[in-house]
Amino acid sequence: MTSANHPVPKERASGKVLTVLGPIEPAKVGITTTHEHLFIDFKAVLTPPESATGRKLMRQEVSLQNLGWIRYNWTSNEDNLEILDEEISTQEAALYYKAGGNTLVDVTSLGLGRDPYALARVSRATGLNVIMGSGYYVDSTHPEWFADKTAEDVAAGIIADVETGVGTTGIRSGIIGEIGCSWPWTEGERKSALAAVMAQRETGAPVLIHPGRNQRAPLEIIDAIDKWGGDLSHTVMGHIERTIFDRGILREVADSGVYVNLDLFGHDSSFYPLAPDTYMPGDHERIDMIDFLLSHAVGDRLLLAHDICTKHRLKAYGGHGWDHILTNVVPWMRARGFAEEDLRLILVDNPTRMLTFK
Ligand SMILES: [Zn+2]
Repeated sequence: MTSANHPVPKERASGKVLTVLGPIEPAKVGITTTHEHLFIDFKAVLTPPESATGRKLMRQEVSLQNLGWIRYNWTSNEDNLEILDEEISTQEAALYYKAGGNTLVDVTSLGLGRDPYALARVSRATGLNVIMGSGYYVDSTHPEWFADKTAEDVAAGIIADVETGVGTTGIRSGIIGEIGCSWPWTEGERKSALAAVMAQRETGAPVLIHPGRNQRAPLEIIDAIDKWGGDLSHTVMGHIERTIFDRGILREVADSGVYVNLDLFGHDSSFYPLAPDTYMPGDHERIDMIDFLLSHAVGDRLLLAHDICTKHRLKAYGGHGWDHILTNVVPWMRARGFAEEDLRLILVDNPTRMLTFK
């Protein structure tokens, strides 16, 4: 291990997977959840209610009394948008490990409270491999200096995170993301995505994208990444189930070569406050999408996750926790006739290939 005061020297991670405790062999990755937030300050998406009584609910702590309201209006309660308690995150990550999980990818971007030391402590306390993200989320979370910097400047920071570690921590990012894109795609977010691609070309790291909430957004981003010389086969398109409702577009996105991430497992509340003109599919619809992708021979592009970024999805607050896919979804998939080799492909082989540096 490196000490806090002595960052690791610049070292290529090619052929390895880069965890918060250092590089590991791909064979050690095992069962993986590919998009999570062990810690996050997600108040950037706070949607204040109009009414006075709604404002009162906005300011309350999450409790049994308001949980029904919060499940429906999960972006409208301040406390719900913070996962800051190390004890709770460690306990819940340990339950994922006990359920058979080996690796957890934390794609908390800069500006959302990314916490290298806390991620390393959770990794040591639980035995999990934890992979840390880098880069920037949507516009509203960009730092003030962002507008004045070039994509090269932004890329230099990401490259440093991957090659020498965040600041003086010596703790290195093993993935670039989640890179936030809105619909329509903003100038700042394009710069952030271009910087991610530049950093990928320099470091060989995977890139993970949060697309805008429009069916055409993923294809627009894929086109740009391709033009910029990014590696689509080493890029993850996130939030597929809340973005793409048309099977033809789903097929087109998977055929582009990117990984398609069904990363909202356990989000079983169909009203979607961030896009009320659409809806949030349930787990049964996610399983249908997996079935569709497997039957169209793009199963090797599939990744799964929960994207827990609010308190109400943690067990401590009445949610399903990080072991939901392993404890609930996998047995359901077996009951529906999915083959063991397909489960292994989705849970182990695909994430291992995705996380391995080129
Ligand atoms: Zn996320």
